Amino acid sequence: MTNVSDTSSEPIKGIKYCTRCCVPETQEGVEFDEMGICTACRSSEEKMHIDWTVREKQLRTILEEAKAKSGNGYDCVLPISGGKDSFFQAHVLVKVYGLKPLAVTFNQNWVSETGFYNLQRCLEVFDLDHLQFTPARSLVNRLAKKSLDAIGDACWHCHSGVGAFPLQVATRFKIPLLVWGESISENAGRASYSCPGVKFDRDYFTKVSAKLTAQEMTSAELSARDLHPFELPSYEEIEKTGVWGIHLGDYMFWDDERQTEWIREVYGWRETEMEGAYKGYKSAECIMAGVHDFTCYLKRGFGRSTGQASVDVRNGLLTRKEGFELIRHHDQERPEALDYYLKITGLSEAEFYDVMREKKLADLKTIDLPIHPKGKPNAERLVPFVEQIIQKHLHQPDPRVTRDQEDN
Ligand SMILES: [Zn+2]
Repeated sequence: MTNVSDTSSEPIKGIKYCTRCCVPETQEGVEFDEMGICTACRSSEEKMHIDWTVREKQLRTILEEAKAKSGNGYDCVLPISGGKDSFFQAHVLVKVYGLKPLAVTFNQNWVSETGFYNLQRCLEVFDLDHLQFTPARSLVNRLAKKSLDAIGDACWHCHSGVGAFPLQVATRFKIPLLVWGESISENAGRASYSCPGVKFDRDYFTKVSAKLTAQEMTSAELSARDLHPFELPSYEEIEKTGVWGIHLGDYMFWDDERQTEWIREVYGWRETEMEGAYKGYKSAECIMAGVHDFTCYLKRGFGRSTGQASVDVRNGLLTRKEGFELIRHHDQERPEALDYYLKITGLSEAEFYDVMREKKLADLKTIDLPIHPKGKPNAERLVPFVEQIIQKHLHQPDPRVTRDQEDN
């Protein structure tokens, strides 16, 4: 079969792209059918044909049962970061179904100013009880360094903690149900709506993102004791509480754009400039998202804007060519947050690129991946907001001292 799509605008020569959207063959788990169409495009067709009323009834049943069983306890665990999905999840659970969730946050300790505001706003506006876990600064720094070599991105502690902490809370507080937001079928290309490839279980986040267990991350600089917060509860503990999880996106029609617009207007959620992306709403809570996506580009030849453009092309908001232009501009830009990453890990920029060269897919070794300098400084300062507050107050004169001096 001849490839009927126009290949001249494709951002990286030598990589095959979906003939309908902008998804490259180098995306993990993606498959192309005989027409050259990717799993995510097929999945988005299914999404249109699903009877969402039936799914909504299933969701109602699940939530009603959770409510009936919880007594005076919490109805479910609601893992949130303060991102746009957090607001939507909280809205659905609290406002639509009248549940009492326990909100839990694994704080990767890289929270941006916008992210800090969003999380606090979410807790206030939905009036949520909340538990948060934040790993120590030096632990985060050591893990960020080890992570690059171990899994090819800087974020093992976040991938792993986001999976482990809600499970720890679920087992300790005996709350069986966990409720996440977006379906994995939406963008990842690793599953489809009719046939979910990865069902949620204890090891879901290890399989999907963290790749390595806490034990596998131990080294001379990282003891088993350091890594204890990232240990998953045992299978026995999970079974005893009956822990299981759902993604709301498998039960209701998910539309990122609409949801974002809506929570912005109704609940005061804020987006911010995101490195490597042309939309400001994904991972807005993290200053390091740009480094995460840049390492993906260096390994696999695509970054965040490839996913965004692919969705927009599927939804008819962009032509494939326009999508590729945006991808070339954003995916290939050196993120400003790389400065912070190099500072906390003590790596030089050359060492960073050396590690990433090792991680590059074998099929891409001979293919040149262009990198452009970032045109202008990022709108938001890419230093954790808590560090910014500490620095600000440390260097401000103590108001009591100033007042005493004025009195004298
Ligand atoms: Zn596609």
